Amino acid sequence: MSDVLVIAIDGPSGSGKSSVARGVARALGLAYLDTGAMYRAATWWCRDRGLDLDDGPAVTRAVAQMDLVLGLDPTAPTVRVSGVDVGEAIRRPEISAAVSKIATNLDVRADLVARQQALVDAERRGGFSTGRGVVAEGRDITTVVAPEADVRLLLTASAATRVARRAKEVHGDDSTEAMAATHDQVLRRDSDDSTVVEFHQAAPGVVTVDSTDLDLPQTIGAVLDLVTQGTGRRATGPQA
Ligand code: C5P
Repeated sequence: MSDVLVIAIDGPSGSGKSSVARGVARALGLAYLDTGAMYRAATWWCRDRGLDLDDGPAVTRAVAQMDLVLGLDPTAPTVRVSGVDVGEAIRRPEISAAVSKIATNLDVRADLVARQQALVDAERRGGFSTGRGVVAEGRDITTVVAPEADVRLLLTASAATRVARRAKEVHGDDSTEAMAATHDQVLRRDSDDSTVVEFHQAAPGVVTVDSTDLDLPQTIGAVLDLVTQGTGRRATGPQA
């Protein structure tokens, strides 16, 4: 096995994959690729141009022209469209509510998957990680974007846990009201997304990590253990 490490992590909304992937990347000195941010940026871009998101061909053409630049430092990842920092704008609820329309457009997927593969390849050669590699996370990384990754994981958690985590993130608590408001963002979005990609069942060769009863440091630790078992690589950087 080469020194370059590619780690692919898929999972549903609220499984904790972004925080876990960032933590693992920091611990191993790797780049961090948040592919969900790319679908969110594409949604922001189409809305900003006043497009009807149901007009598939128009959306595909607009996304093809999107000048998207991601910063892959796991300590401070950035997302820029035409030089504008959209890191915060793409996390707003209206983007979360609309993103599945963009993500279920198969032509858009082909475009963004090609860009993701180019970013992974760039990290193999140099890039942020100076050739050490990348942790890429999303819905189809283990199966479509980087099926040849050195470590392939599916991060899961029970539906109740995932809704509660997202409620705390967005509303600051997991009261009944916050849980109800978050339900659409987590479960409806996943059900729409799973019409085009499978991320509830691990593909052959993909290891499932269930984080229902684990906190973030424990989940990062579990993933780092799997990386060490599979590749012999150990963490050298901060683990939280
Ligand atoms: O992970 P995050 O919630 O930021 O992802 C936003 C959306 O991007 C998902 O709901 C899904 O529609 C889409 N996505 C995808 N394939 C990926 C990553 C994200 O379809 N690899």
